[in-house]
Amino acid sequence: MQSIGVLGMAVLLSACGGGQSDAGNAGTNQAVTDAQIVASIQSSNIDFVPGANGRLPGTWRWAGAPARHVTVHIPPPSAASATEQDYANKVATSVSQLNAKLSGLLVLDISNSVPASGNYIHVSYGTSFVPPGSTDYLAYCANVSTAPNQGSMIMPGVDNGITSSPVFINLGNGHCDVTQAIVTHEFGHALGLANHFPGFGVGIDVPALFWDVLTTLYANPQSTTAANLVVKHAPN
Ligand SMILES: [Zn+2]
Repeated sequence: MQSIGVLGMAVLLSACGGGQSDAGNAGTNQAVTDAQIVASIQSSNIDFVPGANGRLPGTWRWAGAPARHVTVHIPPPSAASATEQDYANKVATSVSQLNAKLSGLLVLDISNSVPASGNYIHVSYGTSFVPPGSTDYLAYCANVSTAPNQGSMIMPGVDNGITSSPVFINLGNGHCDVTQAIVTHEFGHALGLANHFPGFGVGIDVPALFWDVLTTLYANPQSTTAANLVVKHAPN
């Protein structure tokens, strides 16, 4: 991606159905090399909109010291909607898996209300962005963006934190099945993985790489360059 330095730019997501990925499967344990982890962080995170909003080189993510808390607002599902209840349950399952994998690095706190202050992740039911004219509902089953029914990707700020507030996880569009793997995949986007890589929406399923990438991203302070990343593997 070319360097873009304009405040308020809108970067539209690529197709993100999660159909090829199975990041929710924690059982697989392929060997992942440090070089693969660093290359994936580079392509997915570091190289995303370099210089945008005046940001420094290096990684961007939910800023802060280890064990930073981030609220995940899960709106109470409608009692009449089995779909919303299913999505809410799947979000809770993904959050618990993420908290286990990122133990000591990041803590996601579920809340059924909007936090009084600060940035947070807002789960939204049935509002996945489907590009105008597209009927490929499976490919656009879920997305992370700045608002419901929008395709604008979340953006890093000057401090290499996340400046888009709140961060929406849009689940489902009424014509697709949001799987557990898709929900976990979308959390990857919400935590700073912008572009897909093998095991994260591209090609063969390598969940170990997905978890090691997230763990390494949060084990290093924001603004860490690829050369300075200290690789940390997720617990099995
Ligand atoms: Zn995706």
